[in-house]
Amino acid sequence: MATDKYDVVIVGAGPVGLMLSTCLARWGYKIKHIDNRSEPTATGRADGIQPRSLDLLRNMGLKRKIMEYEPAKVYEVAFWDPSAQGIHRTGTWASCPKFIDARHPFTTLLHQGMIERVFIEDMEKHGTHVQRPWTITGFKNDGADPVYPVEVKLAHVDGTLSETVRAKYLFSGEGARSFVRDQLKIGIKYKDPISNVWGVMDGVVRTNFPDIKMKCTIHSDAGSIMVIPRENNMVRLYIQIASSSEPDFNPRKTATAEDVQQKAKDILKPYTISWDRVEWFSVYPIGQGIAERYTLDERVFMGGDACHTHSPKAGQGMNTAFLDAVNLAWKIHHVESGFAPRSLLSTYESERKLIAENLLDFDARYAKLFSARLPSAGEVAGASTSSTDAEENEFIKTFKASCEFTSGYGVAYNPNTINWGPSHPAQHPLILSYEKGTTLRTGRTLIPATVTRVVDANVVHLEQEIPLNGSYRVYIFAGNPSTTHTALRDLAMHMATPSSFFATFLKYADTGVDRYHEKHNPHTGFLSLCTVFNAPRSAIEIDDMLPDVFARYRDHVYADDVWDQRVPDAKAAAHAKMGLDEEKGGVVVVRPDGYVGVVVRLEEGPGTCEALDMYFGAVTGRKMGGERAAL
Ligand SMILES: Cc1cc2nc3c(=O)[nH]c(=O)nc-3n(C[C@H](O)[C@H](O)[C@H](O)COP(=O)(O)OP(=O)(O)OC[C@H]3O[C@@H](n4cnc5c(N)ncnc54)[C@H](O)[C@@H]3O)c2cc1C
Repeated sequence: MATDKYDVVIVGAGPVGLMLSTCLARWGYKIKHIDNRSEPTATGRADGIQPRSLDLLRNMGLKRKIMEYEPAKVYEVAFWDPSAQGIHRTGTWASCPKFIDARHPFTTLLHQGMIERVFIEDMEKHGTHVQRPWTITGFKNDGADPVYPVEVKLAHVDGTLSETVRAKYLFSGEGARSFVRDQLKIGIKYKDPISNVWGVMDGVVRTNFPDIKMKCTIHSDAGSIMVIPRENNMVRLYIQIASSSEPDFNPRKTATAEDVQQKAKDILKPYTISWDRVEWFSVYPIGQGIAERYTLDERVFMGGDACHTHSPKAGQGMNTAFLDAVNLAWKIHHVESGFAPRSLLSTYESERKLIAENLLDFDARYAKLFSARLPSAGEVAGASTSSTDAEENEFIKTFKASCEFTSGYGVAYNPNTINWGPSHPAQHPLILSYEKGTTLRTGRTLIPATVTRVVDANVVHLEQEIPLNGSYRVYIFAGNPSTTHTALRDLAMHMATPSSFFATFLKYADTGVDRYHEKHNPHTGFLSLCTVFNAPRSAIEIDDMLPDVFARYRDHVYADDVWDQRVPDAKAAAHAKMGLDEEKGGVVVVRPDGYVGVVVRLEEGPGTCEALDMYFGAVTGRKMGGERAAL
C-alpha cells in the first residue's frame, strides 16, 4: 500500500499545535494532526489570553468566537498585603496601563478547553481533524523521498492500530513531556534552580472578599495566593505549595483540594470563602526550563511547552505557544510557496528562543517581585500612572517593563534578514530607522492606528484590516496626495519592472481565475497592499489619485482623518503615530505575523522601489530590481 504523504504532521492538540494547524489548514496545507488524549481539554489548565494574543485572534477572525463564551476580562490587578486585621488592599493598577497603546487593554480569562474548541472548529471547516487518541512512536528524517523527507510512525494509544506516513515537516506540540524532544536528545536547560509546586483550583465560591472579580495578588501571614476571575461566575485560585527557595523544598510535595481550600480561608481572613462547586483542581509542579534547540534539521520542529516551561503566574504559557506557532506557520508557508529560501526557517528558533529566554528571565524577576518584596502603597500608586515626573524606583520600572512584556507588546525580535537593522544586507539611503524618520521599530508590532476606509466610510483599525493570510503587508502612507502624486506614480512604475519585489511573485497573473472579488491578494499571495492618504475621506477619489496597481486594492485605501488622543495636534494621526512625515508619507512593510520588517521613505524616482527591492531581495534570497540575474 502506498504511504500517505502530508505537508505537516502535528503531534499534540494544545494551543501551539492547534494554532499551527489552523493557520496551515487555512492556507491549504495537508495536515495529519494527532493527540494522545481521547477528548480535548475539558477543564482547567491555562486560561489567560493577553492583549496582543487577542489582537492576533481578532486578525484571524476568531476573537468573536472566544467572546461568545463570555470570558472574564481583567482590567486591573489588586494588591493585598498583611495588616493587623488580616489583609488589606494596598492598591490596584491597570493590567495593561495606558502607556501601552493597546486595542484591548485587558486579559481575557477563559479555560483552555473552550479556546481549543474555537481552533478545532475552524480547522475542521478547513478539512483538518485531530485524530485521537493517537501517539507518535518513531520518526526519522531519512530523505528517502526528497519532497517528503520525514518518516513518521503513529499508533493508537491502545496499540491496536498503527500507520507510517511521510511528511515535509514534523511538529511537536506535545507539551512539557515531549517524545520528539527526547528522541532528538535535545536537553532542557534549567535557567534558574527555582522550581515550584502550585495548587490550582477553579470553582464557584461564596465570599465577602470584595475583589473576587478582580485579579489579585494577596500576601498574608498565612501565605500567598493569586485570585483570577473566570467565565461562568468561576474563580481560579493559585497557591504556591512548595518552592525550591525554601530550605526543606520537596518537589513531590502535594496538597489535597481541602488543604488548598483551608489555606485560602486562612489567607483571606478576615474575609470568608466557601465553595459551591469545584470544577478543577490540580497540583502542578513546574520548573523554569528551556529546550537547547527548537529544531536540529529545520524539518522536525518543536514549540510551546515542549520548548519552554515557566510558572503560571504571569499567564504566558498559552500566549507564548500561540506566537511560536504563528511564527513558524508563515515561515513554512513562505518556504513551501517558493517565496523564501529554506534558510528563513532558521529564524524560527533564533526569534522564538530569545523570547522564551526573556520570558524565563521575566518569570524569575516576576516571582521575586511579588513573592519576595511587598510593594508599598506609594509604589503601587506610582506604578499605575503614565507620568514621567513620578520618581521611578526599580519596582516601578520593573512593573512597567513587565506590563509591556505580559501584554505581549514587549515582544521584540532582533535584527535579522526579515527585521531590518544596521547590518542588514539591504542598505539604502531611503531606509528609515527608529527615531530617524519613524517611530516604528523593526521586529515589533505595527503601532495601532484608526483610519477611515474610503470605499464605505467605515472607521477601521488599520492594523487589523489585512487578515492573517500569510502575506507581507505593505502599507503605503501616501501623505498629502498633491505632494506625493509623482512619488506614487514612480513607485508603481518601478514595481512593474519584472524583477521588482512586486512583480517577481505575480503568481496569479496567468491562472485565468476570476479574482474580481479578491480584496487582499488580487495579484499574489506574497503580499497585500494598503494606501493611507493624509486627506479627508470625501476628498479621495481612488481611480484619480492612485496608479492602477494600488487602485486595484480599493478596499484597502484609507483616509488618515481620525483624531487620536495620543497625537492630539496631528492632522494625520496614523502618519504621526508611525513617526512619518505627514506631507510626504513613507512605506511600512509588516511581516505576515504583524511585526515591522522595514520602513522606507516615499520619494519621487526609483529610490523607494529600489530600497524595497533590496529588503525583499534579502528576505526572499532572490536578486530583485535592475537586470534580473539568469537563474
Ligand atoms: C496539568 C496541567 C496544568 C496546567 N495548568 C496551568 C495553569 O494553571 N496555568 C497556566 O498558565 N498554564 C497551565 N498549564 C500549562 C499550559 O496548559 C501550557 O503552557 C499551554 O497549554 C502550552 O500549550 P502547548 O500546546 O505547548 O502544550 P499543551 O497544552 O500541554 O498540549 C500538549 C498536547 O499534546 C498532547 N501530547 C503530548 N504528548 C503526546 C504524544 N506523544 N502524542 C500525541 N499527543 C501528545 C497532550 O495530550 C496535549 O493535548 C498546565 C499544563 C498542564 C499539563
